[in-house]
Amino acid sequence: MDKHIVKLLLVEDDEDDYILALDYLQEMASFTFEVKWLSDYQSIINALQTESFDLCLLDYQLGGHTGLSVLEAAKAMGCTTPFIMVTGQADEVLDAKALALGAEDFLVKSEINSVRFIRAIRYALARKELESERLERLKIESDSRAKDRFLAHLSHELRTPLTSIIGYTDLLLSRAELDPIKPELSIINSNSQHLLALLNDVLDLSKIRENNLSLNKDWFSLSPFLAELQSLFSMAAAKKGLDFIIAAEEPVPERVFSDATRLKQVLINMIYNAIKFTESGQIRVNLSYQERAETGLVFFSITDTGIGIPKDKLKRIFKPFEQVQDVTTRTSEGAGLGLAISASLIELLGGELKVESTLGVGSTFSFAIDIGAVPANLVPLNLETALICQQQNLSGSLKLNGQVLVVEDVPEIRTLLCNIISATGVTVTSVADGQQGLALLTDNQHHFDLVFMDLHMPIMGGRDVVVAARRQGVELPIVALTAAALKGSEETLQAIGFNEVLTKPINTALLQACLAHYLQPQKMANQVQNTHEQQDQQGKHILLVEDDHDARELMSLLLKSLGAKVHCAANVEECLTLFSQLDELDWVILDLMLPDGSGVDVAKQIRSQNPEQKLVIISGYEPEPELLVSLNIEQVLLKPVSLPDLRALFT
Ligand code: ADP
Repeated sequence: MDKHIVKLLLVEDDEDDYILALDYLQEMASFTFEVKWLSDYQSIINALQTESFDLCLLDYQLGGHTGLSVLEAAKAMGCTTPFIMVTGQADEVLDAKALALGAEDFLVKSEINSVRFIRAIRYALARKELESERLERLKIESDSRAKDRFLAHLSHELRTPLTSIIGYTDLLLSRAELDPIKPELSIINSNSQHLLALLNDVLDLSKIRENNLSLNKDWFSLSPFLAELQSLFSMAAAKKGLDFIIAAEEPVPERVFSDATRLKQVLINMIYNAIKFTESGQIRVNLSYQERAETGLVFFSITDTGIGIPKDKLKRIFKPFEQVQDVTTRTSEGAGLGLAISASLIELLGGELKVESTLGVGSTFSFAIDIGAVPANLVPLNLETALICQQQNLSGSLKLNGQVLVVEDVPEIRTLLCNIISATGVTVTSVADGQQGLALLTDNQHHFDLVFMDLHMPIMGGRDVVVAARRQGVELPIVALTAAALKGSEETLQAIGFNEVLTKPINTALLQACLAHYLQPQKMANQVQNTHEQQDQQGKHILLVEDDHDARELMSLLLKSLGAKVHCAANVEECLTLFSQLDELDWVILDLMLPDGSGVDVAKQIRSQNPEQKLVIISGYEPEPELLVSLNIEQVLLKPVSLPDLRALFT
């Protein structure tokens, strides 16, 4: 409704009264009235049905009809126009009836003076405005709920098949007999991972737009946090021949109060971009600290020596789906969502994302985060120690079989390597120079399954050892360990006989991945004799409720590989039947969306029958926290569900 132009329907069968009303209306300087004057019942009803009015002044006397019957008919049609009833004389019964039928006010003609009339109109209009605002708000809320429901549904629908694609290709990739088609399998796998990342981005963006993204702030230490990023990207940077440095020239807070997951998401996106758009030089993540208005700010800048961004595009890249469309930079990776999400996340973290860039020279993305308080102490950033701690703090989940030889002259690195490798269950032999290494290899080549070889060693370097060993027919996989991963050096090393190259500082995850690639998992090697893990799960009864056939088969396969006994149900009915037949179920794993009902209702029924039953929900979207509390759900597994997720469930 326009504030100044008011569309008014004047229902009046007396011309004098009509003119009087017009006079009063003209006195209201702040409004301009667009008046429609009607006195015949049918045309009034038609007008109310086909046009929209901001206000109706309704005379009670209307020939064969009354104002009340107009009011009644209008309300029955769902008409939201406010009505002011006007009558010749005071009548309490009529007054009450009109108000009961929804009239805003009741005016008696003889008592009308301009003040009373104007006030009644003002109030009616103000109420109409409030009502419109309320309806608008309700509509926005319901639209947003509908959108949330749609996104939750979409997310679920997409994650379910992705579970099967990623899960099955993971399974196939671990089978040695499929080595010849692994490149193709890896393409399927990495593309589905990409699709999943994209889906997560779209959901994040939608949450940000709806102001629905809440942060999860807690205290955490900066050094291990950054060491993880260092490990994550050092290989990718080294592969492109780029230096990757995370540093702080001055002391920074040791602990900060922020959302570590979201901050990591932002930094990963920016470092990933920096590496993607840089062909030579370096990527530098710089940290600094400043105290401001009783709080601390940690500044991050990510500088690359890459292609840069044209000036006119700088503002646009923070918008969703924007990419600098240049054939040389256009890649199939990325959808242009990363920076839009990062910019919003940084805002939530208390800062603002800025970018400076020169075409052909490089770009710097910078921002600050509010760390919640002035820190107790500032310390020099020490990633070396953090990296070593990270490496020693191995997750014991990877269990392998085999014999590994480590040839490394630096005692600390040798010990570190032996620790990481033996934590996987593998037997390690280590020697301190190339000559001893070569002797062991040529004398006992069938004793070992894999060799890690340093390049720079006294007496005999790794390169010479490999050349000599290959010449003597040693066919074992040999992995080079090098501190300098210069562009092209990997190819050279492979040409002289190394199978692979790992750069120092040793990245635990990459080392483990390398071990897993060349060695047999314990489970496969000991198919008859169960591992402890399997023994633990032996006999655990699980009711798995999932309607998607492929996802159900995969989850059942994964659960069985953990030694569990799995009972499958594809819908609510099957689930409840099985639940009543099977006693002593250790877990019920329940999909939230089922064809014949909702997983939430099933969970409620299960709870009412057995309040102690352990329940896990698998879902394509994050369910409402209140729902989980009310159903006393042990855990939610977000699709795609992987073997480590399921394993973690039992430990
Ligand atoms: P994506 O990388 O998925 O395309 P982003 O939102 O992360 O999406 O980035 C948007 C665009 O900004 C990129 O496509 C690229 O054109 C440009 N861009 C981002 N970071 C850099 C960088 N470090 N150097 C050059 N261009 C960049």
